[in-house]
Amino acid sequence: MNYRIGLIISLFIASICIVKGQSPNEKIEKLLQQMTLEEKVGQMAQITLDVVGKGQTRFASDEPLALDPDSLRRALVDYHIGSVLNTANNRALTTKKWYEIISEIQKVAMEETRLGIPIIYGVDEIHGATYTVGATMFPQQIGQAASRNRDLVRKGAEITAYETRASNIPWNFSPVLDLGLDPRFSRMWESFGEDPYLSTVLGVEMINGYEGEENNIGDPTHVASSLKHFLGYHATVSGKDRTPAYISPDALREYHLPAFKAAIEAGAHTIMINSGIINGIPVHANYDLLTKLLKEELGFEGLVVTDWADIENLHRRDRVAPNNKEAVRMAINAGIDMSMIPYQYEPFCEGLVELVNEGEVKMERIDDAVRRILKVKMALNLFEKPNTHYSDYPKFGSQEFEKAAYDMAAESITLLKNTENILPLAKSSKVLVTGPNANSMRTLNGAWTYSWQGEKTEEYAGQYNTVLEAVQKEIGEKNVYYKPGVSYKMDGAYYEDHLDGLEEAVKMAAKADVILLCVGENTYTEKPGDLNDLYLSDNQTELAKRLAATGKPVILILNEGRPRIISKFEQEMDAIVQTYLPGNFGGDALADIIFGDVNPSGKLPYTYPRYPNATISYIHKPSEEQKKAEGVYNYEADYNPQFRFGEGLSYTTFAYKNLKLAKNTFSKGETIKVSVDVQNTGKRAGKEVVQLFSSDLYASKITPDVKRLRRFEKISLAAGESKTVTFELTADDLKYFDATGKAITEAGEFELSVADLIVEFELVD
Ligand code: BGC
Repeated sequence: MNYRIGLIISLFIASICIVKGQSPNEKIEKLLQQMTLEEKVGQMAQITLDVVGKGQTRFASDEPLALDPDSLRRALVDYHIGSVLNTANNRALTTKKWYEIISEIQKVAMEETRLGIPIIYGVDEIHGATYTVGATMFPQQIGQAASRNRDLVRKGAEITAYETRASNIPWNFSPVLDLGLDPRFSRMWESFGEDPYLSTVLGVEMINGYEGEENNIGDPTHVASSLKHFLGYHATVSGKDRTPAYISPDALREYHLPAFKAAIEAGAHTIMINSGIINGIPVHANYDLLTKLLKEELGFEGLVVTDWADIENLHRRDRVAPNNKEAVRMAINAGIDMSMIPYQYEPFCEGLVELVNEGEVKMERIDDAVRRILKVKMALNLFEKPNTHYSDYPKFGSQEFEKAAYDMAAESITLLKNTENILPLAKSSKVLVTGPNANSMRTLNGAWTYSWQGEKTEEYAGQYNTVLEAVQKEIGEKNVYYKPGVSYKMDGAYYEDHLDGLEEAVKMAAKADVILLCVGENTYTEKPGDLNDLYLSDNQTELAKRLAATGKPVILILNEGRPRIISKFEQEMDAIVQTYLPGNFGGDALADIIFGDVNPSGKLPYTYPRYPNATISYIHKPSEEQKKAEGVYNYEADYNPQFRFGEGLSYTTFAYKNLKLAKNTFSKGETIKVSVDVQNTGKRAGKEVVQLFSSDLYASKITPDVKRLRRFEKISLAAGESKTVTFELTADDLKYFDATGKAITEAGEFELSVADLIVEFELVD
């Protein structure tokens, strides 16, 4: 009884504080004044909550599913926890079920705690509202980058935000702004690929889509985004997840920082920290990166959240802290505002209170962290409207949204080889569809889809078309033969496969005019996706070689999160199509491309390596004299990939002419205008990505990169049509960083190139 009266009085006080007419900052300051240290520290913890299914476990897959009331109250009421994530992590829920679960959490947070502060709920909705049944699934980020279509990227993020809010979730752990520079890395596909400029431009589009142009995340169709994983997470030496990286100050600023910097300028509300170690220092304990660089230099005013259990990892894994309390001290003092999974949150909360009382963590640091957390909650309007109701989102899973996902898939799929224009195929063809990726919704979607490793996808995506089903729809079932030949092992490591009717598949080829061989990878992310051999698996290679030996033309369909090396049999393939992880409409989009309804326009967002020991990016420094041969740099000795960054064919042809600069000398303050004429010289309409690269011929402080993407534009051209594309650069685009990380804009000679055209100019002081 006493407790209830106390609660009513404190709710009354709290509601007086949150009266209309106060600015959000005033409200936050008032709340801070009222909060005890324990309440403040609780806000800084983010936990998962037990949900009890039939199996009484968090990952139970049977209905009914409900929160465990005791752990819920213990967390929110006793420990004042401020944030919850991934409660039903390994399963997808309906919008209604999400509403029920999260509104129950909010009810306890707002009605049973002293100050009634709403929780902020977050989850990884990285290519659509991935944990909601019936949500629209887009291609994963790597495919979105291949589309080079800014508008579609923004639109996809808008739809994802809408459907995430339809699921009563206001915080999305996306986008990934790490560079996909290393094809060995298990999360390459979560990135926009290897180029800093491409990641910068598309990252900003995605944030604008998630948060709205004005970052008005109080609008219930927007969500708070989270930039991941600050920074250099993919740059490990080993190519394995969460292993050490060594990044020089110039590389940090030249490659890894720009996308984050631009995203912060675009107003992103939250950022997640790299789980790894850079130059020997775990990023979660790095004051220079988290406070000096991120908060002070870049002026980031949002919320800094750890990655999974990464404070405890400072003790348990990284061994810079002899115990958990010391790990908490290090991370919070380095600049962490919220601890995702402080495994046992009780010691985190109690430990941090002790640290403050002992003077080891200053109260101002705690206030700064809590202020940032409350600011995001306030911006999301959670105090006024803690829940969003599915019935207010009539467009959830609509055809309009599905069309956007299809369009993105169609624009991302990249034609890499087309010997004698074998593609598109006639619809009268008889086709053998084979390979482990031919009949799988799981592989089309990749991980973080309906479950962490994507292993539940077949359960939830049955209504969409696999490649096999889409081809059957396109040309009729009787014209399609199917045998996998190789299948993935469902109980082994995610990338393991086994022979599954290889001889039958080879025999079946005799009946077909052409073979559609669908290979690649099964789904994976993080540690389970670590790999020791970048070659496509032996079984899949054998299948490819055996099919090629039948003499029937083979169209190789790649469906993979990273470029698995195919040089052992690439020569024997007649055409090659990269689909990446194209989402629920990937099968349909691919079939439309294969049979000519859609003209492909995707461009590789990374370098496709030819050999495992030659995985360098197109961005590299020359190690031999640069020679010009027929107007093109000859750096083949170093960069000899299977396919280049930016490569991608069309069913029509484009000719580039008249690459022109307004003049040959520019001073540093001037705009450098360059234009080029592009003509569609083929017989059908097509889309082309015009890509402008620059090369600094000499840079006095460090060796310059061979070339760098500076601008791109995707244009549509009817057959025979020409367009002039104009790009503008400033001297700032041509700057580089010296070995100490200082920016330098140096006078000198530069080259600009578009396709195989090159112009030179001089930059003067
Ligand atoms: C991943 C993050 C993700 C987080 C929450 C971590 O293991 O590294 O990318 O946002 O889990 O699910």
